[in-house]
Order: sequence, then C-alpha cells, then structure tokens
Amino acid sequence: MSLLKKNSLRFALTLIGATAIFTVHFWEQLHNAYENPETLHAFVSKRYHNLMDLMDFNWKHLFTDLFTVSIALTIETIWVGWDHCSLKKLLHLRSKSLNSDLFFFVLAITNSFKFLSVVLTFGIGYLAFGIVSDSVQFNMGEFIPWPWLQFIVVSLYSELIAYWIHRFAHSVKWWWMVHRFHHSANEMGTLTYYRVHFIEDQLNTFFKVIPFIVFGMPLESYVIYYFITELHNLLIHSEIKSDWGWFGRYVLVSPMAHRIHHSADAMHYNYNFSNFLTIWDRLMGTFKENTVVEKVGLTDNPYNQKGIFSDLWTTYKDLMGAIFERKIPTDDADQHR
Ligand SMILES: [Zn+2]
Ligand SMILES: [Zn+2]
Repeated sequence: MSLLKKNSLRFALTLIGATAIFTVHFWEQLHNAYENPETLHAFVSKRYHNLMDLMDFNWKHLFTDLFTVSIALTIETIWVGWDHCSLKKLLHLRSKSLNSDLFFFVLAITNSFKFLSVVLTFGIGYLAFGIVSDSVQFNMGEFIPWPWLQFIVVSLYSELIAYWIHRFAHSVKWWWMVHRFHHSANEMGTLTYYRVHFIEDQLNTFFKVIPFIVFGMPLESYVIYYFITELHNLLIHSEIKSDWGWFGRYVLVSPMAHRIHHSADAMHYNYNFSNFLTIWDRLMGTFKENTVVEKVGLTDNPYNQKGIFSDLWTTYKDLMGAIFERKIPTDDADQHR
C-alpha cells in the first residue's frame, strides 16, 4: 500500500476514467478503422496533405477538441478546486499571458491554426512533410498484430524522437528562438499547451509526424495515441502541480515535472524534455523532481506586453537574429548549451 500514495491512486483512477470515456467517444471511429482498415498514411494525408482541407471549418474537429479540453478542465477543477483552476482564471482573472493561450486555443478549435501556420511560414514543414510522406512508407502493423502492443511500441519510439526534437529545440540557437515562445507563458494553465508559434508547428509537423509515417502505424493505434497524449499534454500544463507519486516518476510525465521544465530558474534548465513517458529522460539523465518552482517563464521575457501580434512578430525577428548571428536575447545563453 505504501506504493499507492494518494496522488498515484488519484491519477490511476483519473487515467482509467478518461480512457474509458475516450474509448466510448471514439468507439465508432476505432471500430470503423478495424472494419475498413485505412493506413495511417491516408489518415495523416487527410490531416496534413491537402491544403483545401486545412481551410475547411469542421464541426467534428471543433467538438473533439472541446471535448478533450472539457475533460482536462474538469479533472483539473476536481483536483485543485474552483479557486485555483484554469477555468476560473480564464473567466475572471485573465492576464496578457493567459489571453495569448486563449488566442491559440480558439485558433486550434476553429481549425484556423493549421491554415495560418501554413500561410505564415510559406508551408515549409508542410511541403517537406508531403515530399517525405509520398516517398517513404512502411507498415509496422503487419508485424505487430495486437493494437495495444503497437501502441506501446509506437509510444516508446515516437517519444524517443520527440525527446531529441525537444532537446534540440533548447540547444540549437535558432530553434530555441522559436521554442521559447511556448516558454514565454508567465503562468501555466491547461490552455498553455496550445501556445505554440506557427513556425514551431511547421517544425513539429515535419519532425514529429514523419516518424509515424516512416515507421508506419495502423490508424487505430494512432487515434488512441493521439487522444491520450492530447489529454495528457493538457493535464501537464494545468494547475494540478502534482508529481503523481511513483506513477510520475516511472511511467508518465507529471504536471510537476513539466512545470520544472517551464521554470524560469536557471538551475531547472535542460531537464524533463519528455512530454509523455518518463523513460527517455531517465535513461538520458535529464529527469528532475522534488524541487520547488517559484516562477515559470523566461528570465528576460519580451512577450506578453504589447499584444499577440507583436509577440508573433518577436519570434520571427529573434529567429532571423539567431540565423544571421545578430544579437540574441540574454537568457538564451543560459537556456541552451
Ligand atoms: Zn521546452
Ligand atoms: Zn510545455
């Protein structure tokens, strides 16, 4: 019983409950995938490979995202109480930082984010993705017939890729200029997950989705993976601030671990790069726990002052500065190695 600390038990019950709700909600989609197998390639192509699709407003997309966010906000409210939850802050105490999170959330649920991301970056990642996904395809599903085993293998594999992508985002100068927009949130809440600059979205489209194409994965495993990681990502940005006991130490990244990653304190830099499984941070020696986070954000934060459009431009400007070796913000020197 000592293993089952209160936090771990609460989280385990949360996970079981959320998985059950997801399975019920997406049962038809999963069932169709079994009945009428469609490759991941076709599914992802629909999402990323047709510019016209990106412009389509899709009610199903809107409700799916709202549904996921509602679950995350509900879990957070039950966990921390009304006075400390993101929902109350969004309704009553909105800061400039939270307004930015809200802005990206609205873009995401109205299906405008992907379209703007392509338009405002000349679709660099999108085009590269199209070229690679057209020429490379395997299908892991042929070798691993059991969906849950596929899910575990794909999680480990894609998490390893995501770990290194995130590590590079902190260590490569120009990449950090883009990624620091996500870190510019002065306060974290469930919706902070959506705060991603368009340029980073293009990089993610290429680097994080390509592994699924190259490795191949049946649609049903991808759907499960996508929704579980989506919900989990919302929770680790929430106000929950729990380390989830042994579960957060050895299985899934806890909100506390990700808060440490967002810390403005230099002693917390370059830890907890994983967003889902803790295994790769543990194996690479970058896992950190048991520490107090006084303040999240950047030490020298140019964001959240002049409004969202100025913030979006700042990232373009800093990226160009880093590429052409002009002056870069001071805290960059501490954040990347
Ligand atoms: Zn980061
Ligand atoms: Zn984050």
